[in-house]
Amino acid sequence: MSDLAPPDVYIWQMIEQRAREVFARYRFEEVRTPVLEKTSLFTHSLGDTTDVVTKEMYSLQDRGGRHLSLRPEGTAGAVRYIASGAEETANARIYYIGPMFRCERPQAGRKRQFHQIGLEAAGAPNPLADAEVIALQVHLLDAWGLKGSRIRLNTIGLPEERAAVLDGLREAIRPRLSELPEDAQQRFETNVLRLLDSKDPAVQEMINDIPTVTELLSDDSRAYLDTVVETLRGLEIDVEIDPSLVRGLDYYVHTVWEVVHDGLGAQNALSGGGRYRIQIGGKPFDGVGFAMGVERMIAALEASGVTADRFAPQPAVFIASLGEAALKENLLLMQTLRQRGIACEMELKARKIKAQMKRADKLGDERVIIRGDSELENGTFVVKNMTDGTQQELELPELMDMLEREE
Ligand code: AMP
Repeated sequence: MSDLAPPDVYIWQMIEQRAREVFARYRFEEVRTPVLEKTSLFTHSLGDTTDVVTKEMYSLQDRGGRHLSLRPEGTAGAVRYIASGAEETANARIYYIGPMFRCERPQAGRKRQFHQIGLEAAGAPNPLADAEVIALQVHLLDAWGLKGSRIRLNTIGLPEERAAVLDGLREAIRPRLSELPEDAQQRFETNVLRLLDSKDPAVQEMINDIPTVTELLSDDSRAYLDTVVETLRGLEIDVEIDPSLVRGLDYYVHTVWEVVHDGLGAQNALSGGGRYRIQIGGKPFDGVGFAMGVERMIAALEASGVTADRFAPQPAVFIASLGEAALKENLLLMQTLRQRGIACEMELKARKIKAQMKRADKLGDERVIIRGDSELENGTFVVKNMTDGTQQELELPELMDMLEREE
C-alpha cells in the first residue's frame, strides 16, 4: 500500500477527470459504496472457491462479532447498492472510482491496495449492451491517450450450459490428469475453468489438445458472441477472440473480455470485464461491467509517453507585503482575488521582501503584487512581471482588468 502525492498524483487527477467526462456522455452516474462490507457479500457473489475470496481478502471481526472484509473488487458492492432498490434496477448505469484491497504477494503490477475505475450496466443479456460497454471502455482509453492496447474477448455461455461445459472439459482432461502439476490437479477438482488460463507450460500444452469452451457451448451462445463481435466491428472496434480467456470469478455469463498492454510485462491486464449473473439477496441480478486497474493504466500510459501537469488555475499571482499594515490589507486583497477566480498565495507573517520574492519564484507565478505603506496610502498596487522583471503601478480596476484578461 502506498502514499500518493505530487507530482505522481497529477496523472491520477487527469485520469479521473477525463473518466467522469466520458462516463457522463454515456449517461453513467457515480456511486460510492463503503470499502468495508459484510464478508458474506463477497463469498456469495464472487463464489467461495475463487482465489480472491479464499486467499486474498483482508477480513476481520468487529466488536459485535460481525464478519467484515475490505472490498477486493467493486462489482459486489455496486450490485448490492443497485439491488437494494435505491436505484431503478432494470436499467441502472453506474460507475465507481476507488481503492480495492487484496492480500496478495506484492510484486510488480500487484499491490495490496490498488485502485479501480469500473462500471456496471444492469439489464438482461443483450449483445448490444455488452458492445456498448466495450465501446465506452475504448473511448476512455482514447481519452487518456493510451496507445498499443488490445482487447481479448471470449464467451463462457450460460449457467445452465456450465455443467455440460465442465463435464466436457473434465472428460477431455481426465485421461491426462496425472501429467499435470499438483495445483493444477487441485484446480481440476475445484474450478476446472481456471485451468484454461493457467500459465504453466504443461497445462497449456494439454489445453491445446482439448475442445475449447466455445466448442462445448450451445449454438445460441456462439451466436451471442458473434453478435457482440459484429456490433463492435460496426463501431470500428477490433477485438481478438481468445478461447483460453475465462476470468477468475464464478459469476460471469456469456461475454468476458480483458484489455491487455504489452508494455506491462507479466501482469499485462489493464482491465477485466464481462457479463454476469450475481445472486444477491437470494435473487439473480443481471448486468455487464468492467474494472480497470488505475496503477497499471498509469504504467501503460507512461509507456505510451503520456504525462500530466499540476492542476494550476490561471491566472495566478503571489502577493508580497512590506510591513504589518500591508500584510493585513493583503489578506483582504487575497480573499477578493480568490473569490473572483484568481489563484493566489502570500506569506502570512511579515518577512523580508527578498524571501517573499524567492517563494514567488519557486511557486512559478508569473506576477507578484507588491504593497507597502506608500501603496496603501495611494490606493495602488505594484505589479512585477517575473518573466522580464518590469514593474508597473496600477489601481484596483486596472489590476483586475489585467488579471482577468489573462484568464
Ligand atoms: P480483476 O478484478 O481481478 O478482474 O482486476 C481488474 C483489474 O484490476 C486488473 O486487470 C488489474 O489492472 C487490476 N488489478 C487487480 N489486482 C490488482 C493488484 N493486486 N494490484 C494492482 N492492480 C490490480
